[in-house]
Amino acid sequence: MTDPRTHWLAADPTQKDAEPATRRANAALAGLPPFDDQSDFTEARRGFVGTHVDGVIRTASGTAIWNLPAYRFLDAEDAPPTVNPSLWRMARLNMNHGLFEVVPGVYQVRGLDIANMTIIEGASGIIVIDPLTATDTARAALELYYAHRPRRPVVALIYSHSHVDHYGGVKGVISDADVREGRVQVIAPAGFLDAVAGENVLVGNPMARRAQFQFGGLLRPGPRGQVDAGLGKAVARGTVSLIAPTQDITEPVETHRIDGVEIIFQLAPGTEAPAEMHMFMPAGGVLNMAENATRHLHNFCPLRGAVVRDPRLWAHYLAEALDLFGEQSEVLIGQHHWPTWGRARIYDFLEKQRDLYKYVHDQSVRLMNHGWKPAEIAEALELPPELAREWPLRGYYGTISHNAKAVYQRYLSWYDGNPANLNPLPPVDAAKKAVAYMGGAEAALAHAREDFARGEYRWVAQVANQVVFAEPENQAARALCADAFEQLGYQAESATWRNAYLSGARELRRGVAQLTPRPMLSPELLAAVATATLFDFIAVRLDPARVEGRSFALNWVLTDTGERLVQELKHSTLTQRMDRIAMDADASVSTKRSVLVDLILRRTSVTQASVAGVLRIKGDAALVEALFEMLDDFSLQFEVVAPRPNSSSPPNSAKQL
Ligand SMILES: [Zn+2]
Repeated sequence: MTDPRTHWLAADPTQKDAEPATRRANAALAGLPPFDDQSDFTEARRGFVGTHVDGVIRTASGTAIWNLPAYRFLDAEDAPPTVNPSLWRMARLNMNHGLFEVVPGVYQVRGLDIANMTIIEGASGIIVIDPLTATDTARAALELYYAHRPRRPVVALIYSHSHVDHYGGVKGVISDADVREGRVQVIAPAGFLDAVAGENVLVGNPMARRAQFQFGGLLRPGPRGQVDAGLGKAVARGTVSLIAPTQDITEPVETHRIDGVEIIFQLAPGTEAPAEMHMFMPAGGVLNMAENATRHLHNFCPLRGAVVRDPRLWAHYLAEALDLFGEQSEVLIGQHHWPTWGRARIYDFLEKQRDLYKYVHDQSVRLMNHGWKPAEIAEALELPPELAREWPLRGYYGTISHNAKAVYQRYLSWYDGNPANLNPLPPVDAAKKAVAYMGGAEAALAHAREDFARGEYRWVAQVANQVVFAEPENQAARALCADAFEQLGYQAESATWRNAYLSGARELRRGVAQLTPRPMLSPELLAAVATATLFDFIAVRLDPARVEGRSFALNWVLTDTGERLVQELKHSTLTQRMDRIAMDADASVSTKRSVLVDLILRRTSVTQASVAGVLRIKGDAALVEALFEMLDDFSLQFEVVAPRPNSSSPPNSAKQL
C-alpha cells in the first residue's frame, strides 16, 4: 500500500504560473540587496570535508524522510517567476550539505536535517551539540562524521535549546543505557524539560498541524511548491526521541571542562526558545550562538504558534555575548546556517542581529504608544536602509510584519482596544453576514475577480475566504481563494509565508490531506517529560459533556519511579497534586509510568492493563475506566482554510453550554 502522504505529494496539475503582477513584484526585488556578493556562498562551503552518498535518508522500513535530490531544480542560478529571487538565493545557500570543519577539532554536519549537528573532539571521545530532529537523520549525520574522522564514542551530548529540531534525534546518537550507565552526560539549559513540555505536549496537536503550513511538509518541492524553510530545507520526518538531561546549566555564565575541552555556557532564557544557551570554546575561539543569531530575521512568534518571545531580551543576550566573548572570537557558528569567520565580521554580524531585533521591538512599541493598531504597524514598519540591504537580516523565516504583531500581542494582547473587535461574530457567522451584505457569493466573487486581475491578491484572499466560510461547497470561491494564496506565496520572500500560502491553496483545491493515523504525541516525548505534565495533558483532554456531574479522587502510585499523586475530578475540572496521597480516595491505582503513557496514548485500556497484570486498582475500578472515557482524542488533520464541519458546536459535546 502506498503511503497516503506520497499520494498527496504527487504532481499537482492545478498549480498555476506567476501572474503579471507577481512577475513585476519579483522582478522589482532584483536590484535591492547585493545579489553579486558571493561571500555567503563561499562561507557556506568553507571547510567542506565530504557528504552523504546521495542525500536521501531512509528509516529502517525504507521511507525516505530526507530527500535532497528533490531540490535539484535549485541548481538554476536565476529564480523562476514563481519564486521570490531573494528566497531563491537563500534556498540555494541552504542546499550546501555535508561535514564541514569549522576549526581543527570542531565540525558541523549541515543540510541533513533542518538544523546543524556540531561535533567537538575531546580527549577521549566526542561532544555532540544538538542531535537534529529524527533518530535516522541524527544517525546519518554521526555516520557521516565517522566516515571521515576516527570512530570515537560520544561522551557528552548538549542540547542548545528546547526545540524539537535540536533534541528529537538524540537516540540516533546515544542510548538510554549510555546515560544510565554513566558513559554520556547530557547537558541542557535550565528549564529545558519544562519548555519542551510547554510547547510540544499540551498544544502539540495544533502546533504540529500549523507547522505543516509553516514548513510546507505537505507541499511537493519545486518551483511552484516548497523551495525552503528559511532555517534549512525542511523538517525531517521520522522518529522523534528525547533523553532527559543529566546536568542543567543554571548560572548566567558557567564554565565546564568536558572531556578536556573548556566550554563557557551563557544562558539566554526567554529568547528564541524559553530555555536556550550560547557556548564559547576558548580553544579555537569558537562562539556558538545556538539559534539566537542565524542568517535571517527569526520569529518573535512563529506561524506554527508559540508563546510570544521577548525580542528585547533577545537583543540583550546578543549584546552580552559580544561583551563576554567578542574579543576572543575567531569564528561564530550557529545551530542553523553557516559560520562567520573573523573578529571584525563577527562584531558586524552580531551588532546588526542585535539591532535588528531591538529595532523591530522598539519601533513597534513606539507606534503602539502612538495608538497604532497591529495591522497598521505591520504594514508601515520597515528596517532602516543600512539594515534592510543586509542579507543576514532578511525575513526568510520571521517577517517584520508578523513580528511587529507579535510585539503588540506580547504587551497589549490580541485585542486592539477597539470594542468593535472585542466580541465579533465567529468566522462562519461573520462570513455569512458579510457575503449577504456584499450581495451574495456571486457578486462578491465578481468584484474579487476584477481585483485579482489588478494583482490585489491580499484583498482577494480575504474576500474569497469569507465566501468559503459562508459556503464551504462553493468551488468557485475555493478556486479563486486558492489562486490568490498561490500568487501571494510566489511573491513571498519569507519561506514560511510561501509555505503557508501554498499549503492553503493546495487544501482549498484538494481538501485536507488524509495521512496515516499516528499517536497524538510521540511516546518517546511522553516518556521523557515530567509526570505532572502527563497529568496536565490528561486534564486538557477532559470533555465536560461526558463528566455528567461526577466528582472523584484517584491516587496514583508509579511503582518504577516511586512518584505518588492524587488526581481529583471536581466541577468538570481535573487537578493533580504531586507527592501526596488522599486517604479517602475513591480508588488507588498502582502501575508503571510506561503503562500510564500507554493509557494516555490509548495503546492499552484500563481493563487490558489490569488483565495483563501491569496495573492494579484498589477501590472503585470503574471510575478509573470512566476517567479515560471522558477524554477527547485529537486528530491532526483538522480544517484550517475552510470551516470545520459542524463548526457551530464544540467537538464531542453532547450539548451546547
Ligand atoms: Zn532550530
